[in-house]
Amino acid sequence: MLYIGCHLSASKGYKAMGNQALEINANTFAFFTRNPRGGSAKQLDVKDAAEFLEISKKHSFGKLVAHAPYTMNACSADENIRRFAIEAMVDDLVRMEATPYNYYNFHPGSHVKQGADVGIELIAQQLNEVLTTEQTTTVLLETMAGKGSEVGRNFEELRAIIDRTQLSDKLGVCLDTCHVWDGGYDIVNNLDGVLEEFDKVIGLEKLKAIHLNDSMNPLGAHKDRHAKIGEGHIGADALIRVINHPKLRGLPVILETPNDIDGYAREIEFLRKNYSE
Ligand code: FE
Ligand code: FE
Ligand code: ZN
Repeated sequence: MLYIGCHLSASKGYKAMGNQALEINANTFAFFTRNPRGGSAKQLDVKDAAEFLEISKKHSFGKLVAHAPYTMNACSADENIRRFAIEAMVDDLVRMEATPYNYYNFHPGSHVKQGADVGIELIAQQLNEVLTTEQTTTVLLETMAGKGSEVGRNFEELRAIIDRTQLSDKLGVCLDTCHVWDGGYDIVNNLDGVLEEFDKVIGLEKLKAIHLNDSMNPLGAHKDRHAKIGEGHIGADALIRVINHPKLRGLPVILETPNDIDGYAREIEFLRKNYSE
């Protein structure tokens, strides 16, 4: 079963996202838990969440891959920014429990001149403060392109965060195809090798979701500019191999390509056509 979807606007609530997903033949989706560039979150509507759960069950949706705001930086040098990151994540994880057993993905952070080691330490500190044994949500660290001082630029950095987190069974990884490509992992010519490397360094059981994007830049560019499927340096064939790879089948696949909703619908149709059941 291919679980595929895209980013949807959360402004009208969960049920609206569920219905919009159905309209574009998606059976999972991503959404920002709060304004991606600001901080405010919508009041949780429990009835709306319950109605969404009905839709999700009826249509056998895969796991949702919620996305934390970009402004969240768990390893900022500024204590106030770190405090916001902790409070926002605590609050998001409470709201995630209205739709239990899904995923909450976040960018580990940017260490801004403090060095990756300090960054890793601060991110793990945040996770140790936030994660609880009761939560049903799995928090995903996103693989990053290595733009600027991003932490998570390679598998080793993600592993180091996981190793320093007490409740690491609440952690997983979301592999972004544009980001790993920009990070120097050749998923075009050596997807098997990249997945072997992932398995060796992190463990494939930690891989929970895929962000499926083409890249406007060549391998190792560390740029992070997403392209539409087939319009970048990764290309449609390599991305089709990703969704069909035996070790990746069944994971929720989220498109983050520069598209409007019709463009997403076309990409979903294209990828479904190129998926072998
Ligand atoms: Fe992301
Ligand atoms: Fe992504
Ligand atoms: Zn990106």
